[in-house]
Amino acid sequence: VADAGAAATSTAVIPVALPSTTASLEASKVSAWFGQRKVLDRVDLEIPAGKVTALIGPSGCGKSTFLRILNRMHELVPGASLAGEVLLDGVDIYDPERRLTDARKAIGMVFQKPNPFPAMSIYDNVLAGLKLTGTKVGRTEKDALVEESLTRAGLWLEVRDRLKQPGSALSGGQQQRLCIARSLAVRPRVLLMDEPCSALDPTSTRVVEETIQHIASDVTIVIVTHNMQQAHRVSDQCAFFLAAHGTPGVIVEHGPTASIFESPQDQRTHDYVNGRF
Ligand code: ADP
Ligand code: MG
Repeated sequence: VADAGAAATSTAVIPVALPSTTASLEASKVSAWFGQRKVLDRVDLEIPAGKVTALIGPSGCGKSTFLRILNRMHELVPGASLAGEVLLDGVDIYDPERRLTDARKAIGMVFQKPNPFPAMSIYDNVLAGLKLTGTKVGRTEKDALVEESLTRAGLWLEVRDRLKQPGSALSGGQQQRLCIARSLAVRPRVLLMDEPCSALDPTSTRVVEETIQHIASDVTIVIVTHNMQQAHRVSDQCAFFLAAHGTPGVIVEHGPTASIFESPQDQRTHDYVNGRF
């Protein structure tokens, strides 16, 4: 009886718990090709749950390709092929027994250019990913999910009074946070972000960074960025990709962000993070 009483009391004060939990990703010996051309060579990377991992490196070294392999988007590119393994909490996402939508639901993606559906309302934009991943949500749960997702993305207070307006009515930075909310509505366990601030001004960039830091406690984040200050500010660990002289991309060095910036082991990492590339 005492236990039941304690449980009832604590239930009353517990905030709404998200049903999702963060997950780890583990890439092993991932290679990628476009036609005959190999662009990634046996990349290994452990992405711990509940942390922010930054992928850094010059253009063309395979960062976006690697990101797309992490949620099975690479296989949709005509002529693309891959080898290796990607485990989500220890389970192979490429297992033929597993449905593509399972990986998509668990692993969301945000792109460089904010891409809300411009004519669709802000409200419907948030829910759009649910349709694409075949997730069913009851009519009454929709309002709560829209508020939850926009709150997590740091956009709720700015748009709560104009949810019927089209996505195109928002600024670039707000559109990017709307895209983050659209991903979060599916309650992913991992969120992949490919240069999410490259199209934004410095102020919007900071706001999106704050959003990243805010959601990092309940979604594992992998972010590609060319902005070294940003990598330094938001990430727990960094992986430095390089494709030297037309050879396929590899990870030269990875480790805790502080080590990569303050005591890199490889001269090329040192040169890159100090802007000498
Ligand atoms: P990054 O994101 O690091 O700039 P990418 O993953 O976009 O690098 O590209 C890695 C390499 O693969 C580059 O040489 C690029 O030209 C090539 N590549 C990317 N996408 C395609 C594609 N759809 N078809 C053919 N080659 C591609
Ligand atoms: Mg890229």
